[in-house]
Amino acid sequence: MSRCADPGGTVGAFLCQAGQVLRAAGIEAPRQEARLLLAHAMACREADLLRDPRATVPEAAARAFGALLRRRAAREPMAHLTGRAGFWTLDLAVSPQTLIPRADSEAVVEAALAAFESPAGIARVLDLGTGTGALLLAVLAECPAAFGVGVDLAPGAAALAARNAAANGLAGRAAFLCGDWAEALTGRFDLVLSNPPYVESAAVPGLMPEVARHEPALALDGGADGLDAYRRLVAALPRLLAPGGRAVFEIGAGQREAVEALARAAGLVPLGARRDLGGIERALTLAGRPA
Ligand code: GLN
Repeated sequence: MSRCADPGGTVGAFLCQAGQVLRAAGIEAPRQEARLLLAHAMACREADLLRDPRATVPEAAARAFGALLRRRAAREPMAHLTGRAGFWTLDLAVSPQTLIPRADSEAVVEAALAAFESPAGIARVLDLGTGTGALLLAVLAECPAAFGVGVDLAPGAAALAARNAAANGLAGRAAFLCGDWAEALTGRFDLVLSNPPYVESAAVPGLMPEVARHEPALALDGGADGLDAYRRLVAALPRLLAPGGRAVFEIGAGQREAVEALARAAGLVPLGARRDLGGIERALTLAGRPA
């Protein structure tokens, strides 16, 4: 390991050494993550940290930082170390029981809002496999008159999503329950959202270590061809969609045609796909059978 210029025990020295540790662990932006983790350990903002690189890191913070660094070097996701992830306009708590909200999934929110002439057209929203509640809560935040239900098979996810709703002032308009997709649900919804597991089973072990080792297989593994969840979802949609209702599903790279075919076979009408930040078709909009 090369020498660090700042004197030992200072912010500068900790950042320098931590950057080297993270780089050696294969982390893409080691210095940036070192700053985030040290700020987290010192319970301060990054800007405060950088104002004085020669400040001494208090002992308790140094110990906490060491523990965080070891976990990150073992490729635990940053969001699990800080316990938070930003999504859309929301600050969300995350846990290893749910997928960490991804910026690419914001394409689903955009597609959902674009599928209606105005937010007032969205009164009842359903989010199947809600995880942290990210998709549902983002849409509710944009549609002040809407009410939503989030369903997840994992009890820990439904509980976490409920806490996220409360923390973002949306508890009065969101309910969360534990269930197997929409099996236990009756009623019709203007908007049905889902970011289901869609990775082919055989591809899951080859995902980035952060994902493969630390995110729940339940939220990733879409079966042999990655499409198992979509089969369940499209089968349920005809009884879940209100007249004029829309479904918006997140899809994996290259899955548009296959999911559209499943949707058509179930009597649904594909209305187009929206791309994510990387230019990949990520959010598929579907309508019910025309009256
Ligand atoms: N986008 C995720 C990944 O590739 C997969 C999410 C999902 O299966 N819904 O890591």
